[in-house]
Amino acid sequence: MLFGRKKRKPITIPDKKVKEWKYTTCNYCSTGCAIEIGLNEDKRIVTTRGHAGADVNRGKLCIKGLLEHELFESPGRGTEPLIRDKHFEKFEKTTWDHALDTTAQKIKEIQDKYGKDAFAVVSTGQLLTEEFYTLGKLTRGCIGTNNYDGNTTLCMASAVSGYKRSFGSDGPPGCYDDFEHTHCFMAFGSNLPEQHPVIYWRLKEALEKRKFPLIVVDPRVTMFAQFADIHLPITPGTDCVLINSMMYVIINEGLQDQAYIDAHTEGYEAVKALVQDYAPEVAQHQCGIDEDRIRSVARLYAKAPSAMSIWTMGINQSTHGSDGVANINNLNLITGNIGKPGGTSLSITGQCNAMGTREWSSCSGLPGYRALENPQHRQEIADFWGIDPEFFPKKRGLAQTDIFPAIETGDIKGMWIVATNPMTSMANTPRIRKMLESLDFLVVQDVYADVETNQYSHVYFPASVWAEKEGCHTNTERRVSLISNVLPPYANSKPDFWIFNQMAKRFDNGQKIKFPETPEGAFEEMKQLSKGSNPYGNERTLDISGMSYEKIVKARGIQWPYSEEQDKASGSLKGSPRLYTDGKFQTPSGKANLICVDFYDNNEKPCKDYPFWLNSGRVVEHFHTRTRTGKIGNCNKFSPTPYMEMNPDAAKELGIEHQTYVRLTSRRGDAVVLVQLTQRVSRDMVFIPFHFHDCVNRLTVGLLDPYSRQPAFKQCSARIEKVDQEEAARLNAERRNY
Ligand code: SF4
Repeated sequence: MLFGRKKRKPITIPDKKVKEWKYTTCNYCSTGCAIEIGLNEDKRIVTTRGHAGADVNRGKLCIKGLLEHELFESPGRGTEPLIRDKHFEKFEKTTWDHALDTTAQKIKEIQDKYGKDAFAVVSTGQLLTEEFYTLGKLTRGCIGTNNYDGNTTLCMASAVSGYKRSFGSDGPPGCYDDFEHTHCFMAFGSNLPEQHPVIYWRLKEALEKRKFPLIVVDPRVTMFAQFADIHLPITPGTDCVLINSMMYVIINEGLQDQAYIDAHTEGYEAVKALVQDYAPEVAQHQCGIDEDRIRSVARLYAKAPSAMSIWTMGINQSTHGSDGVANINNLNLITGNIGKPGGTSLSITGQCNAMGTREWSSCSGLPGYRALENPQHRQEIADFWGIDPEFFPKKRGLAQTDIFPAIETGDIKGMWIVATNPMTSMANTPRIRKMLESLDFLVVQDVYADVETNQYSHVYFPASVWAEKEGCHTNTERRVSLISNVLPPYANSKPDFWIFNQMAKRFDNGQKIKFPETPEGAFEEMKQLSKGSNPYGNERTLDISGMSYEKIVKARGIQWPYSEEQDKASGSLKGSPRLYTDGKFQTPSGKANLICVDFYDNNEKPCKDYPFWLNSGRVVEHFHTRTRTGKIGNCNKFSPTPYMEMNPDAAKELGIEHQTYVRLTSRRGDAVVLVQLTQRVSRDMVFIPFHFHDCVNRLTVGLLDPYSRQPAFKQCSARIEKVDQEEAARLNAERRNY
């Protein structure tokens, strides 16, 4: 018996006196968990629980979802529109009309003086899909700037780019159910148990029923790596070398699926020739994985009846991000692992609705995966919206990571930032601060008035949060789910949908284009635009025409494509779990592209002055820049402060002790962090969670991928110095106020 057990206080579960449960969907990560919100008899929200009837999470939630109901009245929420002349002056409260009129006036002034593209719009992956569609309509159809992008460029742009290059279109081809069918599972740069705990739980469930090899590729011994059968602690930024070497083994040992390659791909001979430079005995010196291990993993993967790969930011946030994705696709194409149960290339998306913005926001093109570069697409959308197609630019403008430097060069004079926080999320934040300070006009639209970026705005729009609004999300497996409107907007905040509609009324084309009054009206427009075929005559993959809000709620989410014809034929509301099951891709030939990916080493690597690799990532308690989770008691309590994982041997050499503060310096700036000694990182590497303000992104380099323009957040070099402990503690406490 444990000492003192008899005196223990019994565990009690407080009765929250829930009278009614309301269905909705989690608004944090891309897993897409269905949630029930509990209301008491006064109609106050008192708790949340996972929805047991939803296929995605089957009753489970992670800590963020379990505490999500605390968001509604959390500190720092915006209550009224705010305005000021200069960013260093005090804000004054104002009316919505005045805030909207002033913003529309400023946009027009800047555009008249400097040209249409001198005003930029930077959006997010956190809005609801109907809001994205409406913002796209406003920006592309009314404001007319071509410098319009979302923060998804910081997380998913490489996946989008890689999918488009390989398959001719965006859209993850697999689903969570593939875990139940696969015979080999390989994860690249993904710490699933912390980033996407419920997807990890689905994987564990599948593994408990039927054992299959779990291979994790990560420079750090993450939680996922600790659970793996094989951990490949790769040298940062060299995934392409490892994959090329695996393909070398597969092809030279005749393990490829030649029938699939011949029938459904193009470019095989060129890839076969290229990978001859990546024999394992050569590649091992670049990627840090020994030659025998490369051979055994390659054989395991190729011989499995079905094998699948997943990845997240370890691949995407790199100067080789798009190439990394294309190469994972190559690996799966040459082994015949696309479009079959358990065989897929599944990018695990980051934000709850990163997919929604990819599909419908028009950030990189026009709605429904249409391209600005395609005259037929411009005509279709212009006809549907009722405007002149000449209003649209003929090619895509700047990505988010190029929009900010364009402030420095004087090309961008004004900006509208919607639900994103570049003052914490962008690489090299000291430089971002100067850029924001120099804007002629900045409007920030966010749930929280105290979001760091709002320090530099002239107008602030308070937005409603999560279940104060209605609309859809699309999750990692293309499942469209509904966020039900459970509560009225907080104070004088407004749904983003309402804000975009009101702004549209203040522009000339806003009088010509119809903006539906309700999110469901916008969804009906999206359904119309999703019908039909692609320019090569193949069926459009992104078809949601068979869906409706009612059907989505009934099914607890439907995976696209789900066309009117599918709905009429089966009415099963199941949607399509996989893409490309018939081996037909969205390319002119209908075949997938095998792409030659040669490795070029442009990483900022450790050197004499900066001897440590600096890596960054997530912790389970926080989401992005802590704008929301930093306000939730238990999320903050379990992960209250920025810390740095450091190897004990390296710490001993520098005389650094566990739980002391150190100063970390890179070529860009410095940050003060608390040291956590752990063997999870190698002797020449440190790791810092990316969520905290004035921390890791003061150091990161942000070199960009040439295709996706996504920054290399995860590979740069730094040095460690001792600091005065009292001063560091004071600084740390001051910064934690955000
Ligand atoms: S796993 Fe993602 S979607 Fe599910 S509850 Fe957690 S944050 Fe929400």
